[in-house]
Amino acid sequence: MKQFDVTIIGGGHAGVEAAWISAQFGLKVAIVTIPGVGLASAPCNPAVGGVGKGQVVREIDALGGLMGKLADKAGIQYRILNESKGYAVQSTRVQVDKELYSQYAEEYVSQVTNIEVIRKLVLSIVDADGGFIVTTDDEAIFSKKVVVTTGTFLNGKLHTGEEQVEGGRVDCQKSPGLSSIFSKVETLGKRFKTGTPARLDKATIDYSVMEEQASDERARNFSCLSDPLSRNSRQVSCFLTRTNQTTLDIIRDNKERSPIFNGQIQGIGPRYCPSIEDKAFRYPERNSHHVFIEPEGLDIQTVYPNGVSTSLPKEVQLEFLRTIDGLENVEILVYGYAVEYDVVDTSKLNLGLEYIDIPGLYFAGQVNGTSGYEEAAGQGIIAGINASLSVLGREKFVLSRDDTYIGVMIEDLVSSKRDEPYRLFTARNENRLYVREDNTLVRLYNYRRSFGLNDTLDIYLDEYIRQYDLLWNVCKKFVYRISAETKQYFSENNYGPLDTNTFMFELIKRSQLDPYETLKRELLNKGLLFDDNVVRTVAIGIKYEGYIQRANSENERVNRLASMNIDWQKLVESGNISYECKQRIKEIRPETFGALQKIDGIRPATLAYVAGNII
Ligand SMILES: Cc1cc2nc3c(=O)[nH]c(=O)nc-3n(C[C@H](O)[C@H](O)[C@H](O)COP(=O)(O)OP(=O)(O)OC[C@H]3O[C@@H](n4cnc5c(N)ncnc54)[C@H](O)[C@@H]3O)c2cc1C
Repeated sequence: MKQFDVTIIGGGHAGVEAAWISAQFGLKVAIVTIPGVGLASAPCNPAVGGVGKGQVVREIDALGGLMGKLADKAGIQYRILNESKGYAVQSTRVQVDKELYSQYAEEYVSQVTNIEVIRKLVLSIVDADGGFIVTTDDEAIFSKKVVVTTGTFLNGKLHTGEEQVEGGRVDCQKSPGLSSIFSKVETLGKRFKTGTPARLDKATIDYSVMEEQASDERARNFSCLSDPLSRNSRQVSCFLTRTNQTTLDIIRDNKERSPIFNGQIQGIGPRYCPSIEDKAFRYPERNSHHVFIEPEGLDIQTVYPNGVSTSLPKEVQLEFLRTIDGLENVEILVYGYAVEYDVVDTSKLNLGLEYIDIPGLYFAGQVNGTSGYEEAAGQGIIAGINASLSVLGREKFVLSRDDTYIGVMIEDLVSSKRDEPYRLFTARNENRLYVREDNTLVRLYNYRRSFGLNDTLDIYLDEYIRQYDLLWNVCKKFVYRISAETKQYFSENNYGPLDTNTFMFELIKRSQLDPYETLKRELLNKGLLFDDNVVRTVAIGIKYEGYIQRANSENERVNRLASMNIDWQKLVESGNISYECKQRIKEIRPETFGALQKIDGIRPATLAYVAGNII
């Protein structure tokens, strides 16, 4: 029997990250994945990043992950989201060529000698002495740790109108229920669903009546090891059009044929990523919804109409699409559909994404009830790190919600039972002004350092932090002293008046100035050379320093209590807590006071008792 340290079930976005990071710890790693489904393939819109998600991609990169590198290589259209709202909440979104993206994933993984990719369907996972036996139709392998990342495949069922077929996504077989392990692992007891729009033949679209959105050349690549502004692939445009009254009338007239409204689909869909049917009935007064026509690749014939995800019957899909400006003659190459699948109860996982009752078994990605490539990849890397550290007999690795979006997501996931698909967005983060894209390397430095690795990334990060500290010092200490010459200098550069001696950081903070451009210019004028990423981080950090300090002291008060460890077993035995609360605590097993606070149904009296007596 082949032996591995860590075996990943599934080669999607979660699985690839788990394998990639585990291999960095020098372990023997296997990915067992369904044949015919490429590594890190994109069954929905091939876009990486977005609001809140761009931060996740950069956090994955700073931890040593792959997603940012793949997006940089396969990116064909870049955008900066929330640009008008200022640096603090900006995010990068990159449309990728989905074939190139998956090809690069295959290429990167194939170059790592300690990852073996086994292209077979896993039929069972059994916990055995000191590990697990993973079985396919013709082989069994032994692994010390297993990470399950089966995405939408677990007992998957696809719906297009009245048609129903078993499958994990279009043209892909489903995963069997893996009852050998799922008889011991609790699923949510309800299924989740997600959907995707029809894919359109790009030669049948009239782009001339749509608004063009060219790639933004100022958007910065995700990986800190990529040149920030270089492009590896040819850039193309996306186009914007809109639905109208006729489009929505057709959808509303076919309500009884919609699987999500006629009872055929029982699964719960993502509230924040509604299908066009959802929009038609949720907003009856609105008929104009954005439809972004987005390329799926440079040499791919299909385009993705973002905003019209649907599981309506095929002929209805074609009918409503042809009412949209520019799509009057459109042909569909692949019809839209919805997929229903089983989901793990994440309240049974710890903060390292390990199933508490089966040590050594980890879950990550869509199987945990999340939606989105970035959410999947963010969990994949954490599950991979923890499985690896556990093989090495080291402590669990946990990211704090105070300084990472991945930390926010994982704490949200494990601290409560999910009743709908989970999606990351900035409002979930209490520390938004600090947890930005530009300062990801500063935020993640000590986390990555704790792995004790010495790769190219670690060498880069050490130098980055050295320069960061140095530049921060320069900005705090350099003074523009009043003189005719400096006054003249301020005026020539449109810096405003110089009435008193002014520190460089005070200049950068001036409201009328762009902090990054100002610092860049000042360094250039003084002949000082710093890494451009460092300059940006320091400039934006200085600009928001005051706001962050204020937000921090408020958060600190709240967080001090929330981050304190509690002993849930002690609570379950306590005579001062109600039976119902104890049941919820027993179910969720909160490790911190913050996690206890998040459990639905925990009474204020219980919280007061715990705060006063237990911690
Ligand atoms: C129809 C559809 C619509 C979607 N819509 C959206 C959307 O609107 N917005 C959004 O953000 N995201 C959407 N997604 C979700 C996005 O695709 C996922 O979030 C992301 O792919 C999840 O990554 P993952 O690694 O968890 O799982 P996946 O990418 O699904 O990968 C799972 C992997 O596990 C393998 N596998 C499964 N079972 C087995 C087994 N028994 N043995 C061996 N291998 C196995 C599969 O082959 C696959 O490689 C959609 C997905 C689908 C299918």
